[in-house]
Amino acid sequence: MRHHSSILEWLWLGAVAGLVLAAGGCRTAPEAPPLTRFEFSSPHMGTLWRITLYAPDAAAASNAVRAAFGRVRELDQCMSDYDPESELERLRKSPPGVPVNVSDDLFSCLQSAVAIARETRGAFDPTVGLEVQLWRQARRRHALPDPARLAVARESVGCHRLRLDARTKTVTLLGTNLWLDLGGIAKGFGADAALAVLRRRGLPRALVAASGDLAIGDPPPGQCGWRVGIGAVGGRTNELAHVLILRNAAVSTSGDAEQFFELEGVRYSHIVNPRTGLGLTNRVQATIVAPCATRSDALATAVCVMGAERGLKFIERDGRCAAFILLPKDGARPPALQSRRFLQLEKAPPGGREGAVPLLF
Ligand code: ADP
Ligand code: MG
Repeated sequence: MRHHSSILEWLWLGAVAGLVLAAGGCRTAPEAPPLTRFEFSSPHMGTLWRITLYAPDAAAASNAVRAAFGRVRELDQCMSDYDPESELERLRKSPPGVPVNVSDDLFSCLQSAVAIARETRGAFDPTVGLEVQLWRQARRRHALPDPARLAVARESVGCHRLRLDARTKTVTLLGTNLWLDLGGIAKGFGADAALAVLRRRGLPRALVAASGDLAIGDPPPGQCGWRVGIGAVGGRTNELAHVLILRNAAVSTSGDAEQFFELEGVRYSHIVNPRTGLGLTNRVQATIVAPCATRSDALATAVCVMGAERGLKFIERDGRCAAFILLPKDGARPPALQSRRFLQLEKAPPGGREGAVPLLF
């Protein structure tokens, strides 16, 4: 496991390794009853989800985790674009101009997605679906999308084509070809929801990891926070660029390291630039720390689209987020950009003993 090359995996591995290694730091009075660490995993939303938590006993842990994963399954059934019966797919196929009643979950996720689309000026955009579909086809066929179809897809993008009414909890599609895609936010939204279930069940000392999206609760007993490693692409495969110590926060990493394909010698990402309809070709890995995973997930995707410099400026303007952006280069140690707030985040010094400096969130 230590030789796993996935960067996203490292986020998780870092957290696990930290739990094993973490010692010292801001110790608190012993708690009663004593808590034991438990770990669970389960496949959802096309990836392996893992929950690590502290609980008084195995039964309390597994009951709470079953409920948390149940919640993730429910959200997957609601938002999947692979399942023709999902609520999102049924909404997508609804006639334009007609308000459709949707669940609280779908409404809330769409609301967050639209707000982040406005904030990022469409770098992240939940209406990017038709472009994503074309791009997935291109990947399968090993050929760039047909220009005419690409033009139609580009025309279909934009949150002004979507009307959300919070009073009636309805969504109206304005125009044809509107294709919603929550793939860039649903895992973060699900991780937040799973953590909320654990909290409600009285087990807040928990970490929920959906591949590269982590929702982090209260710290392990006696610790300042959870140790989360950020992988260093371009370096040795198991090298970490940073180990952060976080509590009540979220971290997401997006980038081209895991999912990419090559066409005519150009390397394309599975993240699409909504303006061009094509996969990103600028190699970038963005790690975003934010108060919740819904936001870190969507912003990590957005920062990749914006590119390192514009993305960093965007994050600098947000007082509650931090960014670490790597610019991978083949065979070389990649240059990195860090936001001011990222520099202030508590890091674990080599050797493992973290200080008692309060965290950001
Ligand atoms: P991952 O799912 O690998 O963690 P992301 O969180 O960046 O990566 O999400 C990528 C997914 O988001 C794509 O598979 C697609 O469904 C969707 N997507 C791609 N480009 C965009 C974009 N510009 N805005 C919103 N969603 C996008
Ligand atoms: Mg994302």
